[in-house]
Amino acid sequence: MTSLWSDTAGGAGAPRPPLPGDVDADVAIVGAGYTGLWTAYYLRRADPGLRIAIVEAAHAGFGASGRNGGWCSGLLPTPLPKLERMHGRAAAIAFQQAMIDTVDEVGAVAAAEGIDCDWAKGGTLDLARSAAQWRAARAEAALAASYGFDLHLLGRAEALDRCGATSVYGATWSEHCAAVHPLRLARGLAATVERQGTVIYEGTRALELAPGRVRTTYGTVRAPYVVRATEGYTPDLPGHRRDVVPVYSLMIATEPLPKAFWDEAGLDRRETFTDHRRLVIYGQRTADDRLAFGGRGAPYHFGSAVRPSYDSVPAVHLALRNTLTSLFPALDGARLTHAWGGPLGIARDWHPSAGLDRATGLAWAGGYVGDGVAASNLAGRTLADLITGHETPLTVLPWVNHRSPAGSPNPSAGWASTPPSTP
Ligand SMILES: Cc1cc2nc3c(=O)[nH]c(=O)nc-3n(C[C@H](O)[C@H](O)[C@H](O)COP(=O)(O)OP(=O)(O)OC[C@H]3O[C@@H](n4cnc5c(N)ncnc54)[C@H](O)[C@@H]3O)c2cc1C
Repeated sequence: MTSLWSDTAGGAGAPRPPLPGDVDADVAIVGAGYTGLWTAYYLRRADPGLRIAIVEAAHAGFGASGRNGGWCSGLLPTPLPKLERMHGRAAAIAFQQAMIDTVDEVGAVAAAEGIDCDWAKGGTLDLARSAAQWRAARAEAALAASYGFDLHLLGRAEALDRCGATSVYGATWSEHCAAVHPLRLARGLAATVERQGTVIYEGTRALELAPGRVRTTYGTVRAPYVVRATEGYTPDLPGHRRDVVPVYSLMIATEPLPKAFWDEAGLDRRETFTDHRRLVIYGQRTADDRLAFGGRGAPYHFGSAVRPSYDSVPAVHLALRNTLTSLFPALDGARLTHAWGGPLGIARDWHPSAGLDRATGLAWAGGYVGDGVAASNLAGRTLADLITGHETPLTVLPWVNHRSPAGSPNPSAGWASTPPSTP
């Protein structure tokens, strides 16, 4: 099952060779998704002499980084009041501000490195499509304002002017989101880190991560620093089964839609869109005028299992189609060209983290709860600062070295669609 993104990313290029045998490096990174690639990028920028080896079980961008909804957004999965209770108000605000700044950082690096990822920073629209959702929208805007952040409340006319969906009462709009072609971003980033001198070994599965080494199917990478950047696939690694819960998000895409459709539907600035329902849905107008639309709600698989066959659940893809058509009835009859999905990683306390254990040299980042496109960039910059030993405003953000509880690999039903209660 191919995604829209892999069909429209341009040539994949030849597969990169696997690890040739035992190798020495300064930093070994496991996983060539955004987290691993951004970490390598900022490490080499900080110290161009570093020898960095990335081992990737499949190919760069194979995981969620090549399949996602393409929202590069300042969203934090952890609600601000919860962050404030855990870390204090100033730390919560600093974390949110860092995420907001990260959106522009991704855009700036993409431009500077010539990564053509269809970047369009039109912000994100969260539609209110019932009286209850409108109340939720108003409460969310008031909450953001109470922390000094700008979440604009749009009345019905203004909201409809931006997005001609059905049953619109109003919306919240945040400017801090760009629509991207996720796989082009991942592949462009992989090419960029290679140009910098990092070596990516594809088709090379890490079997064990330990202090000073990564044992793989083809040999061992010995390095004083080992970075785990495996997100939703983490439970497959020995000793990491309970670190994150892998939850599947599924997507569909339409054929390119005619001008008459877009005259009604709007999204002229390629605003990403969702609504205030509890089950997560997300959409974007692509650069070639399709709708790419996704949602959670795929079944959780016993024992935190991750399998390629879980990427496709016909009933969920059908439900996504029905939801999309209820938002835009003019789509009835439009051809769906793609349906796909993939696992993302949910930290059990809904709190992402990026950290380094100085005693062992083991570093990690993830648990982004489906908001990892921008967060992985912040993680990469943070891990680079930690590994090169620089104390910066990033290394004191409250997610640094945060340890989420390692609960049962089988959390209770319905857990993954809404945050568990706050501590
Ligand atoms: C369908 C979907 C839609 C999403 N939409 C959005 C969105 O719109 N906005 C947003 O912010 N986030 C979204 N997300 C989440 C976001 O894509 C992820 O948070 C982000 O891509 C995580 O990047 P990563 O590099 O940490 O993990 P991944 O991209 O999953 O990369 C992990 C890599 O590690 C490799 N790997 C795993 N195990 C091993 C091993 N043992 N040895 C070697 N390599 C290994 C995998 O092959 C993979 O390439 C979505 C996710 C999905 C699945």
